[in-house]
Amino acid sequence: MAKYKRILLKLSGESLMGSQQYGIDQQRLSDYAEEIADIVKGGTQVGIVIGGGNIFRGLSGAAKGFDRVKGDQMGMLATVINSLALNSALNNAGVKSKVLTAIRMEPIGEYYSKDKAVELLSKGEVVIISAGTSNPYFTTDTASALRGIEIEADVMLKGTRVDGIYSADPEKDPDATRFETISFDEIYAKGLKIMDLTATTLCKENDLPILVFNMDQKGNLKRVMKGESLGTIVHN
Ligand code: UDP
Repeated sequence: MAKYKRILLKLSGESLMGSQQYGIDQQRLSDYAEEIADIVKGGTQVGIVIGGGNIFRGLSGAAKGFDRVKGDQMGMLATVINSLALNSALNNAGVKSKVLTAIRMEPIGEYYSKDKAVELLSKGEVVIISAGTSNPYFTTDTASALRGIEIEADVMLKGTRVDGIYSADPEKDPDATRFETISFDEIYAKGLKIMDLTATTLCKENDLPILVFNMDQKGNLKRVMKGESLGTIVHN
């Protein structure tokens, strides 16, 4: 039995770059697809929100003189590009998946609704929820908190390049230790930045635990489903 029945997996756009400077690394994409396929076959229902930072971020656009709202819209479109790529890779890995979009753009993807997402998840299909929250000034971390709450996921899995949340930067401080669990209140009190505050607070207020773990280590997603203690769980 998998530890979680239904999860919301957040993947960053940046991690899709793999070793590249920009865009999508095909190898990284198919590695992710295989890891996800593995846990779907093990019976876990998987909703996914993927970022767009490998293509465009509204804030960096604004720094270059773009209008912030237009820059954010470009960022949201970038998440759709990544979602389509993952959709295709998942289908190649033998798993049915569908892209839903928070902004209407059929036939690229069906317009998102909770009911549609839950219906697909219940059939064992992976649902990739793209275009963020559809609003500027938000992040895909906030979108994934929101969608995780909406689809009633047991946990939000935040896939990162690090092994979890540390007491200090492990690359700078040899005494830094990893928290196995930490409360939302401690996150605020210690000023730890795992996500933006909007996303963190949405999870706290709606009691959605977050597991921060290293998604780039092969097999980790499956280990999480087996209940192995890795990463850091943030809880109320
Ligand atoms: N974005 C937005 N509203 C949302 C989600 C995302 O405007 O609800 C835009 C924002 O410009 C952001 C970009 O989409 O910079 C890409 O998302 P994010 O930076 O969260 O991607 P990640 O860092 O996970 O790759």
